[in-house]
Amino acid sequence: MKYDVAVIGGGPAGMIAAVRAGKLGSRVVLIEKNESLGSKLLMTGKGRCNITNKRGELKEIINRFGKNGKFLFSAFSKFGADETIKFFESKGLKTKVERGGRVFPVSDKSIDVLDVLIKYLRRFHVDVKTNSQVKKIIKKRNRIEKIILANGEEIIADNFIICTGGKAHPITGSTGDGYKWAAKLGHTVIELSPSLVPIIVKERYVKDIEGLSLKNVEISIYKDNKKINSRFGEAIFTANGMSGPIILDMSKEIGEELPGNLVMQIDFKPALDFVKLDKRIQRDFQKNSKKLFKNSLNQLLPKKLIPVIIRLSGIDPDKKANSITKEERRKLLHLLKEFNLEIKGLEGFKKAIITTGGINLNEVDHKTMKSKLIDNLYFAGEILDLDGPTGGYNLQVCWATGYIAGECNK
Ligand SMILES: Cc1cc2nc3c(=O)[nH]c(=O)nc-3n(C[C@H](O)[C@H](O)[C@H](O)COP(=O)(O)OP(=O)(O)OC[C@H]3O[C@@H](n4cnc5c(N)ncnc54)[C@H](O)[C@@H]3O)c2cc1C
Repeated sequence: MKYDVAVIGGGPAGMIAAVRAGKLGSRVVLIEKNESLGSKLLMTGKGRCNITNKRGELKEIINRFGKNGKFLFSAFSKFGADETIKFFESKGLKTKVERGGRVFPVSDKSIDVLDVLIKYLRRFHVDVKTNSQVKKIIKKRNRIEKIILANGEEIIADNFIICTGGKAHPITGSTGDGYKWAAKLGHTVIELSPSLVPIIVKERYVKDIEGLSLKNVEISIYKDNKKINSRFGEAIFTANGMSGPIILDMSKEIGEELPGNLVMQIDFKPALDFVKLDKRIQRDFQKNSKKLFKNSLNQLLPKKLIPVIIRLSGIDPDKKANSITKEERRKLLHLLKEFNLEIKGLEGFKKAIITTGGINLNEVDHKTMKSKLIDNLYFAGEILDLDGPTGGYNLQVCWATGYIAGECNK
């Protein structure tokens, strides 16, 4: 069977492209090598799927993508956060806006987002081929003639949309196949690197606090004792370092400074300055005067963190709280406001959220997502040289570019 549109990759970009093309009356095939669609989509937002972000005007949103953001002006004008929300709401998915403009399904379940897309793929009679790995793309003159699957099947179509994603979390199927095909077809692939990645630190004891999540903390990064960045928000300790929104968002800048003498400093109590925190601690110690030091920090710190702070403070854990000296309190204060971890490096693609680099945007028409080099080829989603911060921006790229690429047969 000959299709009007063949979409390669059943992630968010590929699914919305196929839905849009199907809605416009095209005969569409969606080809996915995994057993099922949207493996990575299911993992997004810790299983809650942060669909998009609606904080600020279009210009501000675009600025969050750095220098390549301007490529998105046309796509986001046509299919921005409001259109994404409308798209899903009109198909029965209720959404809500959380802190920082982050949009989630009301159900807090990414599977509900996937279910909507699958339902509409069916409604528009998209031929979904799972367990189907694209092996080769055959070009004749300046057009893609056909694609060949691992089982030898040939797929012929008028237009082809490559939505194979990046290289982050390859376990989900995003192994970077599309970059290789694009390069063979003459496209430039801007150097790929993992982005929004957890940080690895030198201190081994973080393993003891693995999984401890922190809210309302301030984390600053120092290079050669000079502060280079600082963020307020949420973070989490991992087996060998730290992750979470503020860490991931600073990881790109940290990567650019590595190797180097980099230190991450956590302020566990940013709302209180040294003086106020000292008073608060003194009050706690007086209230708990009969308690031992090791049992007197429960109001101040998360339970998991207490043994580490006690150990690093050098204060005898069995000392009575009211006999702790000023000097010992000073050490404790220092740990609570200036908890230093030495940055060793960044995790790789395996643990990255997104890929920096990708198909050179100069070779793609920003209004249609059409290749400027191959007549019937389109790109959408993470494969493009676009990467935003955490907060729903990266899925918004998929929805917008996928929707527009899906109009290729219009
Ligand atoms: C843990 C995690 C959490 C995230 N959370 C969020 C979030 O909350 N909000 C947000 O905005 N972004 C989030 N992201 C980023 C977001 O998931 C990606 O930007 C998005 O999934 C990219 O979509 P895509 O369709 O371009 O590619 P992908 O989702 O990577 O899909 C590509 C598909 O192509 C298939 N494929 C690859 N090669 C072939 C081949 N040869 N033949 C056939 N099929 C092939 C793959 O199997 C895969 O299913 C998160 C990412 C991760 C890893």
